[in-house]
Amino acid sequence: MLYHSTRSREQLCGSKEAILKGLCADGGLYVSDDMLKTSLDMKALMEKSYEEIVLEVFRVLLDDYTEEELQYCVQRAYRGKFETEDLTPVTPIGDSWLLELYHGPTSAFKDMALCMLPQLMSKALKDEEVMILTATSGDTGKAALSGFQDAEKIGITVFYPYQKVSDIQYLQMATAEGGNVHVAAVRGNFDDCQTGVKKIFAAKTGEFKNKYQVALSSANSINVGRLVPQIIYYIEAYKQLVRRGVISFGEKIDFVVPTGNFGDILAGFYAKLLGLPVGRLVVASNENKVLTDFFRTGVYDKNREFVKTISPSMDILVSSNLERMLFYACGCDCDYVAGLMKDLNEKGRFEVSPDVLKYLQDVFDCGYATNEESKQAIAGAYREDHRLIDPHTACGYKVAKERGAAAPAVILSTASPFKFAKDAYESIFGVLEGNAPDGFAYMDALSERTGEKIPEALASLKTKEIRHKDVVEIAEMAAFAESCISG
Ligand SMILES: *Cc1c(COP(=O)(O)O)cnc(C)c1O
Repeated sequence: MLYHSTRSREQLCGSKEAILKGLCADGGLYVSDDMLKTSLDMKALMEKSYEEIVLEVFRVLLDDYTEEELQYCVQRAYRGKFETEDLTPVTPIGDSWLLELYHGPTSAFKDMALCMLPQLMSKALKDEEVMILTATSGDTGKAALSGFQDAEKIGITVFYPYQKVSDIQYLQMATAEGGNVHVAAVRGNFDDCQTGVKKIFAAKTGEFKNKYQVALSSANSINVGRLVPQIIYYIEAYKQLVRRGVISFGEKIDFVVPTGNFGDILAGFYAKLLGLPVGRLVVASNENKVLTDFFRTGVYDKNREFVKTISPSMDILVSSNLERMLFYACGCDCDYVAGLMKDLNEKGRFEVSPDVLKYLQDVFDCGYATNEESKQAIAGAYREDHRLIDPHTACGYKVAKERGAAAPAVILSTASPFKFAKDAYESIFGVLEGNAPDGFAYMDALSERTGEKIPEALASLKTKEIRHKDVVEIAEMAAFAESCISG
């Protein structure tokens, strides 16, 4: 498998290099033309365990790793870190299904990829050292900090938008342990953090390498090493439904995916390319519905008000991984993608051709939930379907309901409701009485009223020490990163 930039084929590399670099030198994302020529024997995968499916997918897509290296990665990634026996259980909700992706160490779906990425990176490294730079809208931060904690030869620096993450997300990051982890809050929104990190990569990579012999890399959802592990749970969900006789092998099923940066749903597209019988992939957005508008009209326009919602991990106006989808949708034409990205950079908008739009509309369906609709969806899921869901999953639930009972789907459930306990609680039961109840009071109340158990990783946050207190301006991000590398 050879990887190259979405914007040019000038430099080809294997998956190890793509994983170490994260982002291509020209600003594009790593893709592989071979993806279109590759398929897996999906029927045979229905008989395999989660870890065996990981291995089968990796052997094909990450084929420059040795068998021993892949075995090492798989054994270290998930064992002993999940609260359920099945890593990703599929459970009923109304006429549809929830694919529960939140039973890992930080109670959100980012764990599925971020337990694996550090293993893949450490096996790709030779003698060099690496600093991971990550911008997070909340969940990635802690999942990355947890995944990379005390990794050998790898440090990690996480930037998150100051006062724009939940109480609990804040505590998860501020209490992160490990000698190699650094955290700063940035006075700006998530897009500012993401743009700031991209600028550091563009301006500082050479300088840091010369001065400190440290390479920069990313753990963002643009990394091939995050995308590929996310393919597995689509196959796993399908397997569970086949095994239970809900569908027979070969029958297509739709997946509804709460979407922000477009990484999760792109992995669903990769699963489809590899031969999984996927029907529609449904992009579910929140009130920042730039993707809904794009899939309906072919015009991507980020020139709009940024809305702060109760699903902060989807508060995104530039969905980075969409670039990869554009690459496949236009017949792998790098120049075409480069042109669109130039428009996005210069004008904040681009428009795809009718052919590309048609391709996209055949693969994807879309919808969104306003903030108010997300709250109603949480209440509705609880009252009608007796399921407690988080505000991100609620966007998927709302969009799935809208499509109707004739289109049963697997809704990807991306976070534990206890991670967003205040919004979940208030949506169902109204405001909690008491003197300024904090995130923990809401967790306890939510658990008491619903009878559901608080995940251990969240319950234990209460007693942990605050270790990271830095708040920086956008313009200070590079200096902060340098201090982490030099220190
Ligand atoms: C990151 C995240 C999403 C969005 O996933 P993308 O891959 O960015 O589209 C949805 N829900 C939660 C809880 C998340 O953390």
